[in-house]
Amino acid sequence: MTSPISLTQGTGSSAVVDHCQVCGSEDLRSALFLGYMPPVNQMRTVGARPHEQPAYPAELLYCNNCELVQIGLVVDPAVLFPPDYPYTSGTTKILHENFAELHAESAEILGLGEGDLIVDIGSNDGTLLSKFQAGGFRVHGIEPTDAADLAVAAGIPTLKAFINAGSAAEVRAEVGPARVVTAANCFAHIEDIHAVVEAILSLMDDDGVFISESHYLIGLLDTVQYDTVYHEHLRYYSLVSIRHLLEMNGLEVIHAKRIPTHGGSIRVYAARKGTREVLPSVGEILEDERARGPMPDQLAEFHRRTAASKIGLLEMIAGIKADGHRIVGISAPSRASTLVTYTGIDEEMMDSVLEISGSRKIGKYLPGTLIPVVEEQVLFDEQPEYALMLAWHIGEELAPKLRAKGYRGKFIIPLPEPKII
Ligand SMILES: [Zn+2]
Repeated sequence: MTSPISLTQGTGSSAVVDHCQVCGSEDLRSALFLGYMPPVNQMRTVGARPHEQPAYPAELLYCNNCELVQIGLVVDPAVLFPPDYPYTSGTTKILHENFAELHAESAEILGLGEGDLIVDIGSNDGTLLSKFQAGGFRVHGIEPTDAADLAVAAGIPTLKAFINAGSAAEVRAEVGPARVVTAANCFAHIEDIHAVVEAILSLMDDDGVFISESHYLIGLLDTVQYDTVYHEHLRYYSLVSIRHLLEMNGLEVIHAKRIPTHGGSIRVYAARKGTREVLPSVGEILEDERARGPMPDQLAEFHRRTAASKIGLLEMIAGIKADGHRIVGISAPSRASTLVTYTGIDEEMMDSVLEISGSRKIGKYLPGTLIPVVEEQVLFDEQPEYALMLAWHIGEELAPKLRAKGYRGKFIIPLPEPKII
């Protein structure tokens, strides 16, 4: 179906969301407001004087009709993704393992055979498709950024384009219908979602399957991941809300699974209604979601825990600074900008943020602050007493590595509740 919904209600290039991004209902309520935020990927060069910078309200809305949790302002993509957008593949060990597991699981559940075609939307540098290609499948990617060039160089056929009716038709004409279309960590980011689903359907064989992986709302609530709220993320799916979106487009959810990527995600298989058996996993996860109680109550609790985590973290920092100790930040993912902006941590509290050598963020300030991003080596050379884990969602992978490289100080884990390890 074609979406009747236009999101261009605001002034200028950004649009205030006054009806649900998926179902169009105007019955929206505010669930969380984190204040005004600079675009997370606009970083000024260290030494530059502060100058004018946009800031956007970071608000979460809840749709009383379809239960979708969504951002309250859609920012012009030209602002969020400038030409010098700092591309990082972000291919952590968890991500690699996840894609290998996705390949194995889907091949078994769907009975895929050698030579079947897999098309990946937002295929980035081809990491996901490389797992299928190694398994003997035909693969094709669609990716708008320069990461497409890396994929092609690595032998993964990729069309450098946004996903839409035109790019879908071009790929289908070239390689035929797909047994499986995948979309990992991009299905919640694209505006005009119904047009995207329509393009995906046009890529799929009659008995084809669409597999999406998205940040999972329930995990986000349980671990107080307010720091994943920024304007690149338009929607936060539960199985209830993503199922509603898919059903609006004639798709039926046939399998779902919680996976560990990006601090907790959900993998959802969908097929044209009635073409495939629905596995018990779907009912099980829906029942788990229902058993948690009404979503508005859960969001109120999330709101309370978010505010408490901020106060707790500031109290902890106040104590450390009173003792005359240094604090640095570990890693500058996009979510670090949300955490620092919301809590108000500045250069008096945190000297610098460390990134591994070669990061394009080194030599820049964290957005909206005068906190510089510097080389990770500072951690081992200067041994600051405390290191605030801004990439806390992969803290279990990071902390032992930093210890092994010689860091002897303490780690502050900011969420779900601030603690020192
Ligand atoms: Zn809705």
